[in-house]
Amino acid sequence: MLVVMQTGATPEQIERVLSAVRELALTPHPMPGSTRTAIGITGNTGAVDGRPLEMLPGVKDLIRVTKPFKLASREMHPLDTVIHTPQTSIGPGHFTMIGGPCSVENEAMIMQTAEFLLSQGVKLMRAGAYKPRTSPYAFQGMGQGGLNILKKARKTLGIGIVTELMDTDAAEAVEEASDIIQIGTRNMQNYSLLKRVGLCRKPVLLKRGMSATLEEWLMAAEYIMAGGNYQVILCERGIRTFNDHSRNTLDLSVIPPLKAVSHLPILVDPSHGTGKRPYVSPMAMASLAAGADGLLIETHPDPDRAMSDGAQSLDFAQFAKLVADLKTIAGPMGRALC
Ligand code: PEP
Ligand code: MN
Repeated sequence: MLVVMQTGATPEQIERVLSAVRELALTPHPMPGSTRTAIGITGNTGAVDGRPLEMLPGVKDLIRVTKPFKLASREMHPLDTVIHTPQTSIGPGHFTMIGGPCSVENEAMIMQTAEFLLSQGVKLMRAGAYKPRTSPYAFQGMGQGGLNILKKARKTLGIGIVTELMDTDAAEAVEEASDIIQIGTRNMQNYSLLKRVGLCRKPVLLKRGMSATLEEWLMAAEYIMAGGNYQVILCERGIRTFNDHSRNTLDLSVIPPLKAVSHLPILVDPSHGTGKRPYVSPMAMASLAAGADGLLIETHPDPDRAMSDGAQSLDFAQFAKLVADLKTIAGPMGRALC
C-alpha cells in the first residue's frame, strides 16, 4: 500500500503516519517527492487495513499496490529513479557508460584502463576482484589484493569503481572499495546476499539471473530495497536459450516492459550478453535505441591475453569507436553520454 500525503503536509504529520504504520507492525518507507511525500508500506502478508491511516491529518489518499514487488514498482514510485555516485548519475536524461576488464589482473593494467576510460569521458570502471567462474580450476580473481588496486585507482585518478560481491563475508570490504556493488547473474536469487546488500549504503547493480523472469528479477530487487537500500540498478546480461550462436541471448525486449512496471534504471551488458567481440558494439547501439540507461562493457588493454572473458572484451580502439558511435545517436535521443 502507498500512503500519499497532501501537498504541504507537515513533518509532524508525516512522522505521525510513520509511527502509525510501525504500530501496525509494518515497515514505512518515506519517499519525499518534489510536490508531496508518499509513504510505501511493506511487511504485510495479506491486504493492509488502511482505516487507522486514512483518517490521520495530512493524508490525501491510500493506494493499493497490485504487483508482488512493491518498492520496485512504478505504482509506488511513478517517477524514474536516478542513482547518483560521487562521479556520475544513472537514470533519465543520462546514458551512462561503465567500462573495464572482466577481472583485476594487476595494478598496471587497472591504471592503464582507468586512464583510458577517463580520456573517453567514462567515469565508472568495472573490474572483478572476486570472480564467479564455471571451473574451480580457472582464475578466481585477486580477492582483497584486487580490491586494494581498485581503491588505489579511485584515490589517485578519481574513477568510480563497480566490482562484484560474491558472498556475505566480503560485504564490508567490497562496499568500502566500490561506488557500485555488483551482484552477478549466478547470485540474483541468493537471498542472504541480497539481504546483506540491503544494509549497504552504496548503490547495487543487480544482474538478471540467467533464467530469471522479469518478475523474479524485480522480486530480487525488492529484497534489497526492503532492507532499506533503495539504490538499485538493474542490468540485463543475456539469458540462457537454445541459441548456440552466442554465449547468451541478450534480451533487449525486456527493457520496455521493465520500464512500464518499474522506476529503476536499467543498464545492458552486451559483453556477457553476446560473448563475442564483434557482436558487442552492434548490441550496445541497440541497447541505447531500446531505452536502456547505459552500458556495462568489458574492455581490456590486450584482450587476447586477458585472464577472463578476453573473447568478449573490446580493445581500447574498439571501445573508443563505440563511444563515438553512441554519441551520434545519444544526442538526438535526448540522452547525454556520460
Ligand atoms: C562479470 O560481470 O564479469 C560477470 C561475471 O557477469 P555475470 O554475472 O553477468 O556473468
Ligand atoms: Mn566477465
